Formats: sequence, C-alpha cells, structure tokens
Amino acid sequence: MITVTNESMKVVERAMNFRDRADTERLAEAVRRLLPALEEFDRFAGPDPAGRARDKWLGALDKPLPERGIGWEGVVDELAHTVVPYGLRNGAPGFSGWVTTEPTTSGIVAALAATVAGSQRWWVQPFNYLETVALRWLAQLLGIPADLQGTFTSGGSVANLVGIGAARQRAYEQIGCDPARDGLPAGVRSRIYASAELHHVVLRSAGVLGLGRSSVTLIKTDDKQRIDLRTLEHVLEEDRRKGIIPLALVASAGTVNTGAIDPIGEMVGIVKNRNIWLHVDGAYGLFGRLDSRVTSLYNGLEQADSVVVDPHKWLAAPVGIGAVFVRDRALLGRAFTLEPADYLEGSSVRDREILSPFDEFGELYHDFSVEQSAPSRGAQVWAILREIGAEGIRERVTRHNDFARRLASLVEADERLELLAEPVLSICCFRYRVAQRTEQELEELNQEIARRLRAESKYVPSTTRVNGKLALRPCYINPRTTGTEVDGLAARVRQLGDELAQ
Ligand SMILES: *Cc1c(COP(=O)(O)O)cnc(C)c1O
Repeated sequence: MITVTNESMKVVERAMNFRDRADTERLAEAVRRLLPALEEFDRFAGPDPAGRARDKWLGALDKPLPERGIGWEGVVDELAHTVVPYGLRNGAPGFSGWVTTEPTTSGIVAALAATVAGSQRWWVQPFNYLETVALRWLAQLLGIPADLQGTFTSGGSVANLVGIGAARQRAYEQIGCDPARDGLPAGVRSRIYASAELHHVVLRSAGVLGLGRSSVTLIKTDDKQRIDLRTLEHVLEEDRRKGIIPLALVASAGTVNTGAIDPIGEMVGIVKNRNIWLHVDGAYGLFGRLDSRVTSLYNGLEQADSVVVDPHKWLAAPVGIGAVFVRDRALLGRAFTLEPADYLEGSSVRDREILSPFDEFGELYHDFSVEQSAPSRGAQVWAILREIGAEGIRERVTRHNDFARRLASLVEADERLELLAEPVLSICCFRYRVAQRTEQELEELNQEIARRLRAESKYVPSTTRVNGKLALRPCYINPRTTGTEVDGLAARVRQLGDELAQ
C-alpha cells in the first residue's frame, strides 16, 4: 500500500501546476522583435562601433548571475540594443580579413529551422537525411570520389583531426596495434609531413592524437609557397632509413597565407610508392577547384585518402560547419566509433517496419567523428546549394579569384605598391613601399596602414608574412564584396601610405 503524506502531495501539486520560466510559445514574436536590429546591423552603416564603444557594451553586459530572469522580451531587447549593434562586421562588403564571413540568407534561415526542428542529426528524419544529401552534393561539386565517407564537423579543426585520426589508425594497424583501443605503443616513432605553410590546426591534431606536435615535420616551400618536393623526398628517405613510420603526408589545397596549392598530383606519386596516407586540407581552397583557370592544380585529389573542406568559408554557411571525407569508412568507424550503449541502442528496431523516427538512427554520423550530440549542419549546406546551385558557387569563386587578380594588376601598375605573391586563388598579398626605407621601417609603415584601415572600417584586410615580409592580405570569400571594394582598397592603401610616409 502506498501512503501519501502531506509533504509528497505538495510536491505532486507543485509539479503538476508548474509553469516553466522559459518561453516556448512566442518564437515568431521574438524573431519579429529582433529582426529590425538584424536588418540595421546588415546595413553596416557608419564607422564600426564595437571597438570604440567597448565600455558601453562591456558595462551593460558585465552583470552578476541574475537570481530573477528578465523574461524573453527583456532578452530580445538587450540583444537588439546592446549586443547586435556591436556585433562582428566581418560580413561588411569591404571586409576581406578572414576566411570566414557572415552567412547568407538561406543558410541563416536553415540554421534557425534546424535549431527548431532538427536539434539532433540522428534518427530517420529529414535533418539526418539532409546531412547525407549535402555531403553527397559537396563531394560531387568538388570532385571527391563517391567512395569516400563524408561527415560534417564543427569546422576545419575537427575535420583535420578526424582525417589524421583515420591516418593514425591505419598506420598503427599495419604494425598490429589498435591506437583507438590501446593507445600508442611505446618505442614506435611515426611522423606527419606537411609544408611550412600548413594550417596550425594540423599541429594541434597531432598533439590531441597523442602523436605530439613535434611529430609534424615542416618541409620548406618553393618560391610559390608550395611544398618543396625534393626536400620532401629527401626527408622521407632519411626517416625511412631510421625506421620511422610515415603516418601521413598533408597537402594544403589553398594555404590561408597566400592561397598556394601544393602539387597534389606529384604528392600522389610520392605516397603511392611508399604506402603513405595522403590528407588534403582544402578547408579554404577546395572550392577554388570550381574556377576553370585553376582546376588542373587540384589534379590527383581523387587519389587522396582524406579530404577536408569548410562550408563555413567560401560557401558562406553559418560558422560551425566543416566536412571531412575519408576513403575507408570501416577504418573511420574503428578510429571513432561510439561503442554501442544501452541508452542509445535500446530503441533501434532492425528489420522491422519503421513506425516512428525514433525506431532507427538513420546514418550513424556519431560513429565517424568526435561528437555525439551535434547540430544538423547538412540542412544549412543543402539550403545554400539548393538556393544558388553549383552555378552560383562556381560564379562566386571565379569572381573572387578575379578580384584578387584585379587587385594584383592595380598593385603592379602603381610604383608605390608591391605584389608579394602572385594570386592563385582569391588572396592577394601586397604592401606599400617607398624607396630608401629599411625592411623594418616598411614593416612598421604597413602595420600602421593596416591599423588605420581597420579603424576606418571601410576596407579591412588582414596581414600575414610572405618570405618574411609583412603583407596586407585581403582574402575574397565574402558574397557581399563588390569590385568597388577591391579598387577602393588599392586606392586607400596608396593614399594612407603616402600620408604616413611623408
Ligand atoms: C580555416 C582553415 C583551417 C581551420 O578550420 P576552422 O574551420 O577554422 O577550424 C584549417 N586549414 C585550412 C587550410 C583552413 O583554411
């Protein structure tokens, strides 16, 4: 017999009559209320207030944990007045500083839709299936063979980790070990090879995978910032004699410094003879393949064992979307499987009619990467490709590569501007230069030009180094950029340089 005490009656009553403090019914109203602020933000009007008005938004946001909430209207109003207006203007037409940008409309709307109706990517439902469709479309678009297993990740960092993790699994399995199960064996040395222009997330991947950052051998580059093949072959030969296992060769298919593309076809030849995994990091540059002028630079990609591309770069998908494709999906499973668990597997009804989406997982993406719960990223990539088609992204990539070439020609036509690297993709590295200045003085001058450009916020490139020289580095991936901003940047750099060099 169950005895109900007064105390437990009270608990039941409280639970039955609850009203959660978080709103679940006014989404449309909340979005409508926020929209004017988002639209105003997207006009990018006036100077960027985020830096100069730092005290204002910092002061308003730096509050202790509230005991009592302000309700959804209060939150939307704070977003509209204190957060959004000071947000990051990397989608402004003149911003060319990074390889990520503000997403376009259909990607933003798909992100909202996925947050509401696809908050997990598992189970037999459209958001799971759109991961599959979007990965297939991406592979088709970029010439990645259909037998490679794709999976979305949070970005290029995790995509590289997964690709190199698969390479690690293969290399150690070949000597009879299972690194995913048992860790790395003592006394075995293995190495990853990449050009000195590699993206540093590759070093971090090696660190996370227990190989150590120092296991990455950086090979010097040629005069076009591509991996130097003779040095590579020499190093591989030396290491072979020392009994070191060559775990992977990394090809950068578009470095973030200059857009240089390593000679993939020749690297294929090198790995084939030596049984080495070829990993292509095309997080930024793989979309470049769509420009027919440079397509041939990617020849050999079909032979790669793993390929990385970031939809949140040139495709302008919302940030948080990378992708990796790996040749051997069983290997990928051995490297990253989530062991079956009762709390997950229980509801799976194999070989029975599916009556509920919760009867089956759908494609098992959580076995191919390092995430279990994850947002539905495929819907966002699907939405953009559905909106603009292959044609739309091909036009964009070609136009952006045109921008870099146009800027290079403006630079070369001006005796006070110096081109530091011939554009391959959509990056153009250049600087302001006057005679009778030391390298140190030119460095400071260009640093100051970059600072002034950021302060005015009309044209904002970033900086990098090319052969040790400080370069202004616009990277055109932003769909909102027009030719006006390209010409404007060249003219403004010249003008600022003249002013500062007086
Ligand atoms: C951007 C980029 C990365 C890092 O990717 P995230 O999405 O920023 O994590 C790695 N490699 C290359 C070549 C990149 O362009």
